[in-house]
Amino acid sequence: MSNTEFHPCPICSIPTRYFARYTRAVCDNCYSKACDVQGRKLSFFNTSMSGGFEAIVTETKEKYESHICYIAGVKCWAEEARFGGIVIEMMIDGDLPNR
Ligand SMILES: [Zn+2]
Repeated sequence: MSNTEFHPCPICSIPTRYFARYTRAVCDNCYSKACDVQGRKLSFFNTSMSGGFEAIVTETKEKYESHICYIAGVKCWAEEARFGGIVIEMMIDGDLPNR
């Protein structure tokens, strides 16, 4: 039996994998829509095999020096995930849960 849990994506409400550590993590579809405040699409990477965080503007490859991004106009925070890859969580009043 898989013990994978699901929760509604905080942005679009479709069921997405739930991680206790990232209670407001968005779904893959919303993740792919992350952009900066000007609406430019962003891409996120781990900087090495062991992790790290880097963000760029997808089109220009310009380095994006922030963890803040916007999905459907909602302010979110992108960071290196504990389990590898990048996780994006919705912010509420500029804050994240569990911090
Ligand atoms: Zn979503």
